Amino acid sequence: MSSNNYYPIYDADNEIFKDHVPDDNDFINGVKCNCGCLKKSAYTNKKHFEKHLETATHKKWLEYFQCWKIIHNNEINDEKLNKQELIITYLEYEIAQLKRENAILQEKLKEKNSFLCWLMPSMSKTEHTSANSESI
Ligand SMILES: [Zn+2]
Repeated sequence: MSSNNYYPIYDADNEIFKDHVPDDNDFINGVKCNCGCLKKSAYTNKKHFEKHLETATHKKWLEYFQCWKIIHNNEINDEKLNKQELIITYLEYEIAQLKRENAILQEKLKEKNSFLCWLMPSMSKTEHTSANSESI
C-alpha cells in the first residue's frame, strides 16, 4: 500500500494555494508531503502532519506554488508585484530543493561506498594510472 501524496489545494475564490488537512482515512496509509522536508517517511499521525504544515520548509513550498501560478499565468501587475522578486523566490526554492536532494544522495553514496570498502578493501585504494605513461 502506497502512501498518499500531499499537495496544497487551489482556492479559486481567493486565487491562492492553501494547505488542507487530509481525511483521517488518508492517514491510514500515510500522507507524504513533497515539500522537500527531510522527513523520508509518510505521516500517519494527523497532529504531526498539522505541525508540519507550520514549518518554514513547508511554508516556502506553498509560496512557491503561488509564485509558479503567478509567473505562468502572467498575472503580473507591475505596480503591485515585482516579477523579479517572484522569479528569485521561485529559483531559491528550486535551489534549496536540489541542495536537500543532493545532501540525501551524498549520504546514500557514503553508505554505499563504506559498504563497498568493507566488501572489497582493495577497491578503496586509489589507483594512480596515467593515460600518458603508455606513450612514453
Ligand atoms: Zn510539507
